[in-house]
Amino acid sequence: MKIIYSNKHSQHDPPYEIYDGRREPYAEKAERITSILRALKESGLTVFFPPKHFSIKHIHDIHQKEYVSFLRKRSAQLKQSQVLYPSYFIMDTYTPITNKTYTAAKTAVDVVLTGAKYLLQGEQTVYALCRPPGHHAGHKTMGGYCYFNNAAIAANYLSEHGKVAILDIDFHHGNGTQSIFYDRSDVFYISIHADPHIKFPYSSGFANEQGSDEGLGFNKNFPLPLETTNAQYMCVLKQTLKRIQVFNPSFLVISAGFDTYEKDPIGGFKLTIPFYEKISQEIFKLKLPALIVQEGGYNIEDLGKIALSFLKGIDRILKTQLRSKDNDSEFYKANQKTSKKTKKTPI
Ligand SMILES: [Zn+2]
Repeated sequence: MKIIYSNKHSQHDPPYEIYDGRREPYAEKAERITSILRALKESGLTVFFPPKHFSIKHIHDIHQKEYVSFLRKRSAQLKQSQVLYPSYFIMDTYTPITNKTYTAAKTAVDVVLTGAKYLLQGEQTVYALCRPPGHHAGHKTMGGYCYFNNAAIAANYLSEHGKVAILDIDFHHGNGTQSIFYDRSDVFYISIHADPHIKFPYSSGFANEQGSDEGLGFNKNFPLPLETTNAQYMCVLKQTLKRIQVFNPSFLVISAGFDTYEKDPIGGFKLTIPFYEKISQEIFKLKLPALIVQEGGYNIEDLGKIALSFLKGIDRILKTQLRSKDNDSEFYKANQKTSKKTKKTPI
């Protein structure tokens, strides 16, 4: 499996966030990703590739130009130690700008687009190990540690070549991704997350939000109570996968947050490390070309083990599929049938 990574994420590392007016340590630390990187390197499971540079056009396809320009300019105006909490283009007080925020956020977009391009070139699974995360970022708002919506930008890019399903398994609802695709029927957003009555982002993620206009029926939320167990989660995951099968996409984008872990300091579910292997095995039974996009997950000590468990599940299921007779030709035929525009030249 290819893994796309750049160390530029570490340049964005704000010292604190503001919670109810108080300064608290910043949870979305650079060590999150370096912890995953270390565990994966030690495992020898993956091969690492640097991101390629992509045009700003792909960001403008999803985010308002004024917002993008604001983030770039304000970031560039700051000195190295300065932290800015802007008064607009923002939904909370957790998402400050530093002098390298734009660089890190743009690089995260390059990471996911590089992964998406590999899918178009025939890769079956790519892991975009990116940071800052993206699924809370809306058309013209940053929030929840997110600036550019990496998964949405990649899904929009892939949607030029066939239908896309976004499966969001972060503990929190991806309010940004939902809002971006709410009126579209070619990108199906489906999310399993904590009940927004009690957890961030509070204002979206409810079961009755099903899309609008042409997108009606192409948005599906599964809010779950705190203390959700492995067994309860698996039951809901299987329901989401059935819906994705009915949608019959050409590509799957997974917003992979690991804050559903039982010891996550921000989460509240009870999922265990070995269970992530079961989650990915179940997802990859779909046999869809898939881009895994890193979102949340804040238990730095165990993040590497969780990611490794998730990737091991993929490795196991892909090997099983390869062993099955005539697998390659079946997989090829299945994708030819489901993909509408696979012959289009990748950008
Ligand atoms: Zn989260």
